[in-house]
Amino acid sequence: MAWFKKTRKPMAATVKAKPSRVPEGLWVKCPDCAQVIYNKDLAANLSVCPKCAHHFRINAVERLRILFDGDWVEYDKDLVSTDPLEFTDTKPYKARLKAGIASTGMKDAAIVASGTIDGIEAIIASMEYRFIGGSMGVVVGEKIARAIERAIETRVPVVVVCCSGGARMMEGALSLMQMAKICGALARLDRARLPYIAVLTDPTTGGVTASFAMLGDLNIAEPGALIGFAGPRVIEQTIRQKLPQGFQRSEFLLEHGMLDAVVPRKQLKPYIARALEFMDQSSVAGRQSSA
Ligand SMILES: [Zn+2]
Repeated sequence: MAWFKKTRKPMAATVKAKPSRVPEGLWVKCPDCAQVIYNKDLAANLSVCPKCAHHFRINAVERLRILFDGDWVEYDKDLVSTDPLEFTDTKPYKARLKAGIASTGMKDAAIVASGTIDGIEAIIASMEYRFIGGSMGVVVGEKIARAIERAIETRVPVVVVCCSGGARMMEGALSLMQMAKICGALARLDRARLPYIAVLTDPTTGGVTASFAMLGDLNIAEPGALIGFAGPRVIEQTIRQKLPQGFQRSEFLLEHGMLDAVVPRKQLKPYIARALEFMDQSSVAGRQSSA
């Protein structure tokens, strides 16, 4: 005989609620203020919550649409990773690449294009978080380095919109080398006296923060973006201290001198245009000669 016996039947799971009649994907809930927003309203507001100004993550193409005046010319569209290490973790790297290409329609985690920003010619490199966390492998590195070299050839400024989890570990040391390669190209851009603006968006971490994201003539960020090198948990374990409120967010970094400005998404384009105009040597020379 059993010592314990269940005298009552266990409570049955509640019957599943009737399926909602609201179609999927029409409404979005703001993770900050829990406001429910109509999808089209959110898109019209550049994916910024109308109630609390939470900046939703947007994709690389939307970035170009927000910053460029109209059409743009894309470069190096077909560069693709060759999986040089034939890397496998929980999944083969090749399968991850394939999934990234299928879900984004891009060959890797960056788009590079030239166009005009309020009439100023510029090259923009925009990173795509949906492609393996926006991680920087050989292709992303090569695309950004070539973009900078193209800017030097054509004498135009460079804007990089960072959105990345850091270096791509599936390409090992090769991904780390991209940091040096891009920094080398940026040094040449600097010697050519051409401006570079880094726009840090949520999230900008790891090897991207540790290289080109922090090397702009201007480093600006969107409000509330996570920006850092190592994650807060790793830092807490290392220094054995509790981290302050808002640590690794744009506003905290601005306060501590790591950023030049925190610029809301709607003001990003006019802000960049004004800064480029300010830094443009030829227009200064032009004004002086006409004066
Ligand atoms: Zn909100």
